[in-house]
Amino acid sequence: MRLESTPELEAFRLTVRAFIAEHAPGIKAHTGVRAPEPELMPAIRAWTAALYEAGYLGIDWPAPYGGRPDAHPLEPFIVAEEIARARTWPPVGAAALASAALIEFGTATQRDRFLPRIRSGEDMWCQLFSEPGAGSDLAALSTRARREGDGDDAVYVVDGQKVWTTNGQHADMGYLLARTDPDASPHRGITAFALSMRSPGVEIRPLREITGTTDFNEVFLDGVRIPAADVIGEVDAGWRVAMSSLGRERSGVAARGTELLATLEDLTALAERTPAGAGSALDDSATRQAIGELATRVHVNGALVALAQSRMLHGTEQPADAPIGKIFFSELNHDLVDFGMRLQGTDGLLTEGDPGAVADGWWADAYLYARAYTIAGGANEVLRTQIAERGLGLPREPR
Ligand SMILES: Cc1cc2nc3c(=O)[nH]c(=O)nc-3n(C[C@H](O)[C@H](O)[C@H](O)COP(=O)(O)OP(=O)(O)OC[C@H]3O[C@@H](n4cnc5c(N)ncnc54)[C@H](O)[C@@H]3O)c2cc1C
Repeated sequence: MRLESTPELEAFRLTVRAFIAEHAPGIKAHTGVRAPEPELMPAIRAWTAALYEAGYLGIDWPAPYGGRPDAHPLEPFIVAEEIARARTWPPVGAAALASAALIEFGTATQRDRFLPRIRSGEDMWCQLFSEPGAGSDLAALSTRARREGDGDDAVYVVDGQKVWTTNGQHADMGYLLARTDPDASPHRGITAFALSMRSPGVEIRPLREITGTTDFNEVFLDGVRIPAADVIGEVDAGWRVAMSSLGRERSGVAARGTELLATLEDLTALAERTPAGAGSALDDSATRQAIGELATRVHVNGALVALAQSRMLHGTEQPADAPIGKIFFSELNHDLVDFGMRLQGTDGLLTEGDPGAVADGWWADAYLYARAYTIAGGANEVLRTQIAERGLGLPREPR
């Protein structure tokens, strides 16, 4: 498919752009999947509600829950691009992931209960998958859920620890994976749950990161009781629920092209402003060549995004598309912000709030955050193995 725009799509883009200009909660100060400061949360919830209300989020939900099945399939991508272009907050939390699970595997009661609260911004979700001993090898997760009681009174009692829970400190609900059958093979004995983060026994401990910000958390679960009615999908079939919902979260890909184009523009402007000799860094041919090379890669990244979108829309995705796109994006992002740091010399060490820090320390923060992009959503080393095995058909790595 050719991803050519139409007058209708261009009109849609301009409407979204105007909507963002009117309703967005301001510029997002840091790059990446970040947690807002607590005082920003009311504005973030209102922003989320406004996006759903306008039909810009949940586009692919069933119509009774506010979805727009007649929408052009590129609309979710355009919304993501415009949010990135405005450098404002994308939807915060794991609601897209959780709603994908609820829509595909949840009961009608669960959908009626949870989806409207996501739409209204009342419920922010977090993703409770990773554990200290289970990241790349997620199926190694050991948080236990034991069933107690029967019928309507049945509950699962959960004990264990989750980690890297982005926005856990703000979340009302958690999309939890826990082991319900320790005797089954690793992928089979896992169940997905909707967990109220206000449940007794849930303890959220924020982690302070190298960036100085607190974007993710440890979550301790000690005798937490979850009604059996809050199991998402079949008991012991949580692996399928998790993999399917992870595979459905797609519009984020679109933002990658826009995000790196913006960073490239900033980098060029930074080089132009940075004094060197009698002129600016941009007068230096080595700097121009380096920026030219990065610009080439930014355009390749844009082409990869377009290819991925095209294949998604046609159902012709290749197993290596997602890993290649993610590796290319995250490594290029690193190289862009690394160059931005080096252009500044020792001034690059200044961080947010330091007098004289360029762009109030944006580059330093982006540089320190850049490694996170190479890990989140699958570590690049593991994704390279996926490309080798699933994309190129090379012999499987010994497990
Ligand atoms: C910014 C960010 C946000 C996140 N948010 C969430 C969240 O909200 N909820 C959630 O549940 N999780 C979240 N995560 C966790 C994320 O899913 C894990 O970090 C990821 O799955 C990697 O797991 P790990 O950190 O345990 O690293 P490990 O799996 O322990 O990997 C450590 C290193 O070993 C390498 N490695 C591991 N296995 C192999 C292999 N087979 N072959 C080659 N190399 C290998 C990895 O590439 C990596 O370099 C987040 C992570 C980041 C960085």
